[in-house]
Amino acid sequence: MRLSRFLLPTLKETPAEAQIVSHRLMLRAGMVRQTSAGIYAWLPLGYRVLRKIEQIVREEQDRAGCQELLMPTIQPADLWIESGRYDDYGKEMLRIEDRHERKLLFGPTNEEMITDIFRSATKSYRELPQLLYHIQWKFRDEIRPRFGVMRGREFLMKDSYSFDLSYEAARVSYAKMFASYLRTFARMGLQAIPMEADTGPIGGDLSHEFIVLADTGESGVFCDRQALELDVLDGGIDYDDHAGLEALMTRFTSHYARTDEKHDAERFAADVPADRRYEGRGIEVGQVFYFGTKYSEPMKAAVADADGHPVDVHMGSYGIGVSRLVGAIIEASHDEDGIIWPEPVAPYQVGLINLKSGDADCDRACDDIYQRLNAAGVETLYDDRSERAGAKFADMDLIGLPHQLIVGPRGLKAGMVELKHRATGERDELSLEAAIGRLTGAHVL
Ligand code: ATP
Ligand code: MG
Repeated sequence: MRLSRFLLPTLKETPAEAQIVSHRLMLRAGMVRQTSAGIYAWLPLGYRVLRKIEQIVREEQDRAGCQELLMPTIQPADLWIESGRYDDYGKEMLRIEDRHERKLLFGPTNEEMITDIFRSATKSYRELPQLLYHIQWKFRDEIRPRFGVMRGREFLMKDSYSFDLSYEAARVSYAKMFASYLRTFARMGLQAIPMEADTGPIGGDLSHEFIVLADTGESGVFCDRQALELDVLDGGIDYDDHAGLEALMTRFTSHYARTDEKHDAERFAADVPADRRYEGRGIEVGQVFYFGTKYSEPMKAAVADADGHPVDVHMGSYGIGVSRLVGAIIEASHDEDGIIWPEPVAPYQVGLINLKSGDADCDRACDDIYQRLNAAGVETLYDDRSERAGAKFADMDLIGLPHQLIVGPRGLKAGMVELKHRATGERDELSLEAAIGRLTGAHVL
């Protein structure tokens, strides 16, 4: 993409309304625009990041054997009356009435609707387990929307639902989702720690929140420092190996990791040696729940077991805050100059900076580089604007692309360009060919 043609309204000043760094940087980098309180339009740069995150989430759900479907944003109130949650959910639910005076709502979550879909489609235990997910916008009329996309009213969530015949079988589904969450966040360059959690309005008795450490986070975090050193990406996960999944879950949950609701100061002291105690704050990027027959019972979602007797199915639900993750990644990865995107979620891999747009040699060289990078499938944002070099550097640092390829008239005379790594600030003088080779070759420098 040529920056001269790109809708990228970057700001030099810090917007007064933004209290935390991710919100400030998202506004300054022209990623989003607030259209109502807690509701955002995703501008081209921000939308590319959102889609990258969504795609990683999708790939890891698919890998775990979860099937993607798509449910609507608007739901009939009847289903929620059936489950008993219509009144319980309170003011966070946006209630709508259509022209025929039928009661609808903008979905804050989808347990009821997926249970309805499940019960209409399955009859026998032979059809279990079922694991289904969708990635869809949710609406919760949060009392205090704040921190930009981190606590919005409209937000993008991945939500999965599992249906099993027994608690033991449901635990396997839970462990699959647990493992896939570890992989999902690790692939985004995040360290997300699973913490024992309260189940809240979803209800149930087994739940973990996945928390990314950040001082600005809304959740209190208490854990053994050893929990911060676990790495899930070395070694694959075999989703058919149920004992292995259970062992993985044990390994990642044996570090007294609790959120503030469950924190018990006395047990923390007893369970964790003083020098290993970690107390901090974090951002909830996902939560997994097992809640048994909480919905299947009132909604009569039963299947016939081997003897033909009806059994209420055991359910779980599993959410990831896809749009919240954009902010969480920035909280975890930035410096005073701007965002530092981990490569897997970067909107473009390379920022090509033409230091003297209008100069025939610079233009020719940059056009050539730009075409070759594009041809090699390297996502490139080409700053071809006639701006001062200083402004181009500042914008490129602000939007945080992993690699900057800097082309100026002086270097070019000697056939040289500069390659800057955004995260480390390292700069290399290279021949033009060597620079292109590095960027198109291994992708990672
Ligand atoms: P919170 O405690 O932050 O209000 P929650 O526990 O109510 O979140 P869940 O029902 O567990 O949220 O939803 C699954 C995920 O959706 C959360 O882990 C979070 O990442 C994301 N999420 C929830 N509420 C919001 C929101 N208002 N804005 C953006 N993302 C959200
Ligand atoms: Mg939650």
